[in-house]
Amino acid sequence: MISVSEALKLILEGSSALPSQIIPVENAQSFALVNDVKSDRPLPPFDRVAMDGFAVKSEDFTSETMEFKIAGQVQTGVSSKLVVGPGEAIRIMTGAPCPEGADAVVKIENATIKGKTVVLKEENMKPGLNIATKGEDTEAGKTLIRAGTPLTTAGIAVCASVGLPKVEVYQKPKIKIISTGTEIISPSESPLAHQIRDCNSFSLRSMSRSNILESRFLGIGEDDKKVLAAMIREGLESEILLLSGGVSMGEFDHIPQLLSENGVKNLFHHVRVKPGKPIWFGKTEKGTYVFGLPGNPVSVQTCYRIFVEPLIRKLSGYANPRHRFIKLPLSEQVNSKSNRDHYMPGKLVITEKETLLEPIHIRGSGDFSNFEPSQGLFLFPAEEKQLEAGTPVDFLPWREIW
Ligand code: AMP
Ligand code: MG
Repeated sequence: MISVSEALKLILEGSSALPSQIIPVENAQSFALVNDVKSDRPLPPFDRVAMDGFAVKSEDFTSETMEFKIAGQVQTGVSSKLVVGPGEAIRIMTGAPCPEGADAVVKIENATIKGKTVVLKEENMKPGLNIATKGEDTEAGKTLIRAGTPLTTAGIAVCASVGLPKVEVYQKPKIKIISTGTEIISPSESPLAHQIRDCNSFSLRSMSRSNILESRFLGIGEDDKKVLAAMIREGLESEILLLSGGVSMGEFDHIPQLLSENGVKNLFHHVRVKPGKPIWFGKTEKGTYVFGLPGNPVSVQTCYRIFVEPLIRKLSGYANPRHRFIKLPLSEQVNSKSNRDHYMPGKLVITEKETLLEPIHIRGSGDFSNFEPSQGLFLFPAEEKQLEAGTPVDFLPWREIW
């Protein structure tokens, strides 16, 4: 049986970014850039006034309080030819270009206007006061965001500011989802005593939605080879197919055999991980990636986070598709007898002093109700038996941080 890191290596080395597309930048959150984004002009593009007030020559301030002649006004968005002469002040707004001749701005709160003159008080007068100098944030041509970076809100703002209303990004995979199991019924039906409501297709759709992906649910397939084979063929018409259930060793666990018969080459089956040991992964010649996820609801959500998301990031062109764990100290002692890497649910305890990770106790991978308050998973490494309170552990929040 392979380890989690061997499984991730097979997933990531066997996959590459999808083709690119050009989309409006406002829709590009979480999409990875194909090219570096560079500044097309210095930022700020001119000496920009940072306060409403009066533009003056700093050298005119021979004492803290001085009186000036008001020589005019410069508005934002208006190109002005006004020049500040000695003993003069020009009324100015935040965001306007600093008028020629001036090298400092006194804020309006420190001004007393007396008709055609103004008394300005400034204890800390110096050249450049309250002015953002042209190019002080960034010179022209500088790389602001590297290719392969998924766009955040701040990144979208940068793109817009350097004149990119559209951006070239990698396409993201489309996902098809199948739930399997003769006992599984839709939550809109009323269950008989031996039946179980489908929740996996809901958690998988919810998780793909938080990855900002399109997903489609193909329905619930009973454990019947004919039914499942037809659904699998439809599912293979996508970039990623996720199946839940039917990958263990039971007599009716047909999925591994059916996937192989339908042209999906198996890359691994069984990983030294808890929960999720029977996970199955493969790929078709056309480039559809298939995960057979063990049906327990906790296993499905954990396997998606641990194994499916890195593949999504790789196909989406992320320069760094690997997990980004956050180190957090445990709030209490935890034990695990497992000799597999164990991903346990946890939640943050935020106090004034520190942030700790509190383990959430569940009774097994079918216990999705007690699992609900979890905010992510932490790794209990295979080689450990006990982790003391305060031990730093690797935590993966449910929502990824890029
Ligand atoms: P399996 O992997 O098919 O052996 O299923 C393992 C456990 O997960 C069984 O108790 C199933 O009833 C349950 N299970 C399988 N699929 C789902 C589903 N879609 N929603 C909720 N529970 C499921
Ligand atoms: Mg089953």
